[in-house]
Amino acid sequence: MKQTLFQIFDQNSLNQEIPKIHELLSSKTYSSVLFHLYCGTEKEDIVRLVIQRLSSEFPEAEIAGSASNSEIYGSKIMQPGILLSVITFEKTEVHVKCFDQILMHETETGKQVCEFIDSFPEIKAAEILIYDSLPNSHELFDEVCHCRKEIKIFGGHPIGHDIFKDPKYVLTKDGVYENAIVIVVYVGKDFHIDVDYTAGWRTIGRSFQVTKAEKNHLYEIDHAPAYEIYEKYLRTESKEQFAKEVMEFPLMIRQDGIDILRHPTEAAEDNSLYLAGTIENGMTINLTYGDPAGIIEAVNKRCEVIREFEPECILLFTCAGRKMFWGDFIEKEIEPFGFFADTSGFCTGGEIMRNPTTGKIVEYNLTLISIAMREGEKTGREIPPFKIDDSQIRGQASLVQRFASLVQLTTEELQVAYDKLLDLNKKLTSMAITDELTGMYNRREIERRIQQSLAESNRQNKKVSLVMLDVDFFKKVNDTYGHETGDMVLKEVSAILKESVDESKGEAVGRWGGEEFFVLLLEQSVEHAIEFAERVRKKIESHHFDKINHLTVSLGVTSTSGAEDPKKIFSRVDDALYSAKANGRNCVIKAKEPE
Ligand code: GH3
Ligand code: MG
Ligand code: MG
Repeated sequence: MKQTLFQIFDQNSLNQEIPKIHELLSSKTYSSVLFHLYCGTEKEDIVRLVIQRLSSEFPEAEIAGSASNSEIYGSKIMQPGILLSVITFEKTEVHVKCFDQILMHETETGKQVCEFIDSFPEIKAAEILIYDSLPNSHELFDEVCHCRKEIKIFGGHPIGHDIFKDPKYVLTKDGVYENAIVIVVYVGKDFHIDVDYTAGWRTIGRSFQVTKAEKNHLYEIDHAPAYEIYEKYLRTESKEQFAKEVMEFPLMIRQDGIDILRHPTEAAEDNSLYLAGTIENGMTINLTYGDPAGIIEAVNKRCEVIREFEPECILLFTCAGRKMFWGDFIEKEIEPFGFFADTSGFCTGGEIMRNPTTGKIVEYNLTLISIAMREGEKTGREIPPFKIDDSQIRGQASLVQRFASLVQLTTEELQVAYDKLLDLNKKLTSMAITDELTGMYNRREIERRIQQSLAESNRQNKKVSLVMLDVDFFKKVNDTYGHETGDMVLKEVSAILKESVDESKGEAVGRWGGEEFFVLLLEQSVEHAIEFAERVRKKIESHHFDKINHLTVSLGVTSTSGAEDPKKIFSRVDDALYSAKANGRNCVIKAKEPE
């Protein structure tokens, strides 16, 4: 496999290059020839002319391409024009197919694309060039992703040289299309490919939650209009200039374990935002900023993988926004790729890559997709590493980096302090409602729960039952065996009580004080409450307590619909318990009905 690049600016340069391409292709026979055309010219007639000439001169070649913001020619960005990359394959088969008129037929087209890709048993990868202004491209990709999971998928959205004005077309040997998807398939068992994405943007500030979103329309962040986040934290001033102003500060979302940058493209009247890709309700998002050091680190890391891969040819689909971000330094981040193999590509309006884990096709913004290709096995040849020389950039960006670092570290420190506070608050809340000895609710909490249930039962006309329990002759336990044994008895009685109620139904038990406990039962008749109390009494009676062997309890029971004064209810059940004691203990007594 070999990639050779040609630059075309007008008819003259086309005439000059054609003989060279003939020479290149006549020197050998190839299994396939693929022409990529990346067109950074607003003149569509020259594009059409180039396509016509190339397809008639080289009928054996497949052609795929698109409008482009800038063309990557080796390690450089070329002068605006048409970049022709000729890739000759020795064993691989390449086919190009265009699906036209896809707007409003996204799902249907997606199914056809999936079928097309799956129709090649030995396919290794599919490249996608897709019309940019497609609000429902995710619907198309939701279908394409059903193709066999081992197939690598990558690509880009075309975008013009003027990203806001120029046409965004795709092309094949049959012509130029404004509403279409072009698929290039790479087929053959000797074809090897490594695809990955590189972002490098770093998160800044705290995380936010998406509270209202649909497709690419982000309405609310933390229940406030989405635009307000940018207005508040980044002091954006005009909605007209918004997209440009925040180019360097995209949102980052995390989906299926990968970080995806989302560039806001428009701030609407109602302060909602439109994004260059989809977002979902409930997602955690962060603001990010372009950090040259972070980007270079990410590119260096990616290039190490590429070096190991021993590529013969590299394609780069990188976001036009990255070029805006880097300005004159854009070549810094593409330079190393050209060091490892002949490299071509273009600056896109959106990048596409399949998530290898989920098989889903993800649309990225502000991301660099790099594709390394090779025919045959690795040879093990020694390739020296390449590290980007960032000395010039470091000086330029240091102020931004230092401020960003200050913000980031402060945020992280605040986050740690906040988490500690939350944790402490949780502990305090739990302590405030728990009885220390038994771990059950304390008097304040069980009383609160009873009062609350009484009020609800009154509103809903439902029954509430209360059981009050007191350990018989408990003082004797303390006096005979000591306070510690007494404590142990209280814990065991608590455990028996706890396992007798169903907390999931709102039932609760609490320690009223000393050796007295209260049980709250919901929606049970007084007969059921008496049965419950009897069960508890018998359980405790038959329980073996260490040292003291056996022990009994007395219980008072009452039922109410909650219309009564709570004080009277408490006093009623207390009277019943007193009667149980008077009645010889180890028994259950039902409280008198209210007068
Ligand atoms: P009765 O059958 O009439 O209820 O007799 P009693 O001995 O159980 O009742 P009394 O109210 O006279 O005694 C309750 C005892 O409970 C007195 C007190 O020292 C003891 N007590 C209260 N709280 C605790 C505690 O947390 N741990 C221990 N070990 N004893 C406690
Ligand atoms: Mg007692
Ligand atoms: Mg008592």
